[in-house]
Amino acid sequence: CGIVGYVGSRPALSIVLDGLRRLEYRGYDSAGVAVVHRDTVQTEKKAGKLANLEKALAERGGDQIAAGTTGIGHTRWATHGGPTDRNAHPHLSADGRVAVIHNGIIENFARLRGELEATGVEFASDTDTECAAHLLAAEMRALREAGGTSGPELLAEGMRRTVRRLEGAFTLLAVDVEVPDAVVAARRNSPLVVGRGDGENFLASDVSAFIEYTREAIELGQDQVVLITPAGIGITDFDGGPAEAHEFHIDWDA
Ligand code: GLU
Repeated sequence: CGIVGYVGSRPALSIVLDGLRRLEYRGYDSAGVAVVHRDTVQTEKKAGKLANLEKALAERGGDQIAAGTTGIGHTRWATHGGPTDRNAHPHLSADGRVAVIHNGIIENFARLRGELEATGVEFASDTDTECAAHLLAAEMRALREAGGTSGPELLAEGMRRTVRRLEGAFTLLAVDVEVPDAVVAARRNSPLVVGRGDGENFLASDVSAFIEYTREAIELGQDQVVLITPAGIGITDFDGGPAEAHEFHIDWDA
């Protein structure tokens, strides 16, 4: 229901939680975050209010999740799978290297899940979303094996190949341990805006999530993929071709 992403030099967790708080008005039944730190993706997710998530985070103490500078956060309004901790986003790939959050509905998830299970993938939730995490991990693995693609482009191309297989409505955000300073996102029939900062960039389903950090925004068009790093914002269509997005200045108060 609400989506936030951050990449920069500040701790991502507090910025992502701030953004989720600003999106609370949209309603939700669960919340979760993923932060990339060193060689891990740290996640925490809880059914219920953001306060439940914050309590779980506080109980972890000063661990790595508070230190990473790349992060994503989600408030969920369940459509597939009950509102439980397990079904809350982020969803991880089986190897724990990729974390995905999603707004919307992946209509062909049952077929995709069947295909993935046939290759031995075990699912950890009842959501439509989880298949996107496994698909992205598989696409990135295939790209690595083929050679020639590396760094943030691996994540962007992996996402483009993943979304070409999805039907329905989605805003998807993903991070990968191997590409620690990047967040990739895609959208179809569901909103996504980028916030342009100075040495940091933001993603959200609604500008109110990052308005206290930047007022320079880019609204993505239909069927576009965006890769943000601390230094840049790269937007393409689902095939990797050039894409035009709408840049604007937020001149109202949120
Ligand atoms: N369909 C997904 C789920 O049920 C995402 C729901 C949402 O937009 O929050 O987990």
